[in-house]
Amino acid sequence: MEYAYDDQNIFAKILRGEIPNKTVYENDYALAFEDIAPQAPVHVLIIPKGAYVSLDHFARDASAEEQVGFMQAVAEVCQITDVKDGFRSIANTRTHGVQDVPHYHMHILGGRQLGRMLQ
Ligand code: C5P
Repeated sequence: MEYAYDDQNIFAKILRGEIPNKTVYENDYALAFEDIAPQAPVHVLIIPKGAYVSLDHFARDASAEEQVGFMQAVAEVCQITDVKDGFRSIANTRTHGVQDVPHYHMHILGGRQLGRMLQ
């Protein structure tokens, strides 16, 4: 499968510093920032700095270094934010997954009791 990356997507602009964000954590491979329309007290998006459209694209094509760096950002976000009682990670993917922004992002949602999802 081909993954055509649109470098005008909003997260690409955030990575280039063209649009501000509320950064929670950053390393060489990933940026974590507060979602602009939070669905829970903790709602952070973690994005790779590389140009990947979706989780499957990232999992297939990102280097081991990029993947480890991304997961280290996940670990840091889970330390920095108040999710000690648990959280949900989501990666909406393409049309069926209702992905709005075509740059891979992991949602971290927590800080309250979440309902069951999977619909
Ligand atoms: O997974 P999906 O692509 O649907 O989610 C995109 C997310 O990006 C939304 O939760 C939206 O609130 C967030 N967003 C943001 N800052 C922007 C544009 C979108 O945090 N400037």
